[in-house]
Amino acid sequence: MTTLSLLTPSGRLTLGNLLGALRPMAERQHDAYYGISDLHAMTTPHEPSRLRDRTREMATLLLAAGLDRSTLFRQSDVPAHTGLAHLLECTARTGELNRMVQYKEKGRGRDATRVSLFTYPVLMAADILLYRPGEVPVGDDQRQHVELTRDLAIRFNRNYGEVFTVPRIVTPAAGARVMDLADPTRKMSKSVEGAGSVLLLDPPDVVRRKVARAVTDSDTGPDAVRADRAAKPGVTNLLDVLVACGGSADGLSTYGGLKAAVTDAVVAVLEPLQVRYAELAADPTYVSSVYDAGAERCREVTAPVLAAARSAVGL
Ligand code: AMP
Repeated sequence: MTTLSLLTPSGRLTLGNLLGALRPMAERQHDAYYGISDLHAMTTPHEPSRLRDRTREMATLLLAAGLDRSTLFRQSDVPAHTGLAHLLECTARTGELNRMVQYKEKGRGRDATRVSLFTYPVLMAADILLYRPGEVPVGDDQRQHVELTRDLAIRFNRNYGEVFTVPRIVTPAAGARVMDLADPTRKMSKSVEGAGSVLLLDPPDVVRRKVARAVTDSDTGPDAVRADRAAKPGVTNLLDVLVACGGSADGLSTYGGLKAAVTDAVVAVLEPLQVRYAELAADPTYVSSVYDAGAERCREVTAPVLAAARSAVGL
C-alpha cells in the first residue's frame, strides 16, 4: 500500500522529528513517497534565502537518516500539487475552511494573513489525493485537515464522477513523543528554536548544554529518577529520550547522572547521522539528483490523477 508523508521546512529538524517521524519513515520505505512541502512553508511570512537553506538542509537530512529507498521529492517540483489544488478550491467552501482550527488560531481575522494560510488545507488535500494512499496515518493536529480531504474527495466524486480514492484515517502507532526540554508540557517543535529543542545538527557540546539545562523538578530522594508523566514531566521526558536513543536508566539515581546518560545516548544517535550529513552536504549534485529523480517519478504517478480530475470537471 502506498505511504505518503510531507514535512514542511518551516524550521530545522529536531530530535522529536527524528524519533517521531524519520525513524518510522525509514522502517517503511516500500512504495513510499516522502516530500518536502516547501509550498506550505510560504503560508506565513518567509524569507527566500532561509526557505532555500532549510529546504536544502532537510533534503540532505532525510537522505542522511536513511530514506534512500523511498521516493524523495520537493513538492514545488511537482506542478500537479498546485494544479489539483485549484480544482479542489472549486470544490471546497469558504465555510468549511473557516472552521479549520489551525486557521482560526494562526490567522483568522488578521488583515495581513496570507490567503495561502486559509487555503492550505486544500493544497494538503491535493498533496494526499494525487498519490491515492489507501490510508493516512495522522496525529491529532492534522486530523481535521485529513477529514476535509475526505469530504472534498467524496464531494468531487459525487459531483463529477469517481476520480479519487477516499483515504481512511488511521491513528499512527504510538511513537516516541519528545517534549521540549525547557517546557516539558509541550512538544519539542521545529518552529520553536529555543533552548529546549535539540536540533539534529547540534554539535555534542550544544546537546550537552541543552540537556544540562533541561527542566526537571526538586525531588531529591533515592527514587527521584522515575517516570510519572503527570507529576514529573521533565524527568519522564528525559527517560523517554534515553530509552528511545538506546540508553538505559538502570542504576541512575541523580538528575546529573540522568542528564549525562541522556547526553551520551543522544550524541551517539546524532553523531553517525551528522557524519553522513557532512558527506552528503559535500556532494550537493548527488542530493539534487536524488530529488530530481524523485520528482520525475512523482510527476509520472500524479499525471493520470490530475488528468482524470481535469477531464471530469470539463477542462
Ligand atoms: P512537525 O515538525 O510538527 O511539522 O511534524 C513533522 C513530523 O514530525 C510529524 O510526523 C510529527 O508527528 C513528528 N514530530 C514533530 N515533533 C515531534 C516531537 N516532539 N515528538 C515526536 N514526533 C514529532
